[in-house]
Amino acid sequence: MEPPSQVSFPEKIQEMHKQETDATVYMNFMKSHRCYDTIPISCKLVIFDTTLQLKKAFFALVANGLRAAPLWDSKLQRFVGMLTITDFINILHRYYKSPMVQMYELENHKIETWRDVYLQYYSPFLISISPEASLFDAIYSLLKYKIHRLPIIDPESGNILHILTHKRILKFLHIFGKRVPKPAFILRQIQELGIGTFRNIATVQQTASVYDALSIFVERRVSALPVVDEQGKVVALYSRFDVINLAAQKTYNNLDMTMQEAVRRRMCFVEGVIKCHPDETLETIIERIVKAEVHRLVLVDRLDVVKGIISLSDLLQAMVLTPAGIDALLS
Ligand code: ADP
Ligand code: ADP
Ligand code: AMP
Repeated sequence: MEPPSQVSFPEKIQEMHKQETDATVYMNFMKSHRCYDTIPISCKLVIFDTTLQLKKAFFALVANGLRAAPLWDSKLQRFVGMLTITDFINILHRYYKSPMVQMYELENHKIETWRDVYLQYYSPFLISISPEASLFDAIYSLLKYKIHRLPIIDPESGNILHILTHKRILKFLHIFGKRVPKPAFILRQIQELGIGTFRNIATVQQTASVYDALSIFVERRVSALPVVDEQGKVVALYSRFDVINLAAQKTYNNLDMTMQEAVRRRMCFVEGVIKCHPDETLETIIERIVKAEVHRLVLVDRLDVVKGIISLSDLLQAMVLTPAGIDALLS
């Protein structure tokens, strides 16, 4: 008599079914929750009229401890876009000449004047989502349009209820996703899963100037730069968010300052660099990134040499969009 095969037919089907649900568990979670579910009971929202002066707008972001504000066009009577730190970076990069020359455009232009220049290259519309839309759709929009702020707009009143970010979505999954069965892939190593960017990492030398860093932000459109020494070892992390310190400290007229100096001077709530190693599991990575409340981890080898970036975009792409057959980061 033939020995029984290791896995009987119904067991094989069960196994296949398990693998399928394993891969789609986070996708289904996101499809079954609405953007409304992530809105906090109370939060601060500041809106700028497009006739406000640029400089005042960035100072107002600093004064309110905010990272972005929706823009209201009072002539059109609708929201027309967002003002984020990326816009501040683009303005500094475009108009900075030297510490001796004031940036007339930043000092005097209105938001609408800047948008007339900028929108020749970028979308003139506000990308938003309805509270009834699924978190899956929100993730798709954030990744497809390569934005970090997605306003939730009530279709009836036209009011902005909240501004959704990758961080809030992953935190929501981290808290409420505990109710769904833990998929097996979460215990696999990050190098096996291949989640993140591992080639052509944009970094900045600690001896480079802040202007050099801004050029990299503009040209590579990355959200943060590992600051490295001559050996390529990471010594700090400089994110787009840190650039707002130049407004807070009124030092945006001296972009010749070194990265070392900029890192030393900035107000930063995160101590050291939050890193990870290729042999750590996806579960460990998620725990660390959620706990540290940062947008990415720097992947390093045993000598702290930068090997990659694992950003919230990469995690959401891999855990939610890839199982749906969508690669929003590619385009
Ligand atoms: P940051 O990471 O600095 O907060 P983003 O990546 O969200 O910035 O923004 C990149 C660019 O896209 C900026 O010019 C910003 O004004 C614009 N932008 C961001 N969010 C939206 C949105 N929801 N709709 C339209 N434009 C947006
Ligand atoms: P945002 O919420 O705007 O996406 P970020 O996560 O990019 O903000 O940055 C918030 C702060 O955390 C910044 O001061 C930044 O330098 C710091 N930070 C972000 N990622 C890391 C990291 N991996 N290691 C150390 N500091 C980090
Ligand atoms: P983010 O803008 O951080 O949400 O990430 C969008 C994509 O850019 C992700 O695939 C990241 O891995 C990648 N990325 C972020 N920072 C860097 C960097 N410094 N160098 C190369 N790729 C990066």
